[in-house]
Amino acid sequence: MRVWLYFSKEIIKKPVISDAIKKYDIDFNILHAHITSSGGKILAEILGKRKKESIEYLKNRGIIVEIAKDVVRKDKEKCIDCGACVSICPVGAISIKDDWTVEIDDEKCVGCGCCVITCPMKAVNYYHKIFGTF
Ligand code: SF4
Ligand code: SF4
Repeated sequence: MRVWLYFSKEIIKKPVISDAIKKYDIDFNILHAHITSSGGKILAEILGKRKKESIEYLKNRGIIVEIAKDVVRKDKEKCIDCGACVSICPVGAISIKDDWTVEIDDEKCVGCGCCVITCPMKAVNYYHKIFGTF
């Protein structure tokens, strides 16, 4: 299960995630993280039989949790279908369709951000339902 975790500066100093890992015996793979002194966000893959319980635990400890379905989004208005993002994607999640437009497969995407950095038009961005694109 891929999730965005958002936490405030008060929570950063607390071992909430490591507590969840130990308590619920989950695998916690960080795919993307941005932490500052005022708070942070992490995109993570959480695996294990008790992953749902662990997510409830994180929520109860004050972390905003959102299931990440489409981790990155392409802005059709900005994209010029140049294809630069296709070869850079490490998991082959971006392809060129029959009509030569570029498509992102949300199921394959691991949220590495390579396409976000590479796109010359800034047409791909991380997406979060609560906070929008960034
Ligand atoms: S690199 Fe940007 S402009 Fe080029 S195809 Fe990908 S999303 Fe579109
Ligand atoms: S974020 Fe990474 S894995 Fe996802 S589509 Fe972009 S390059 Fe591929």
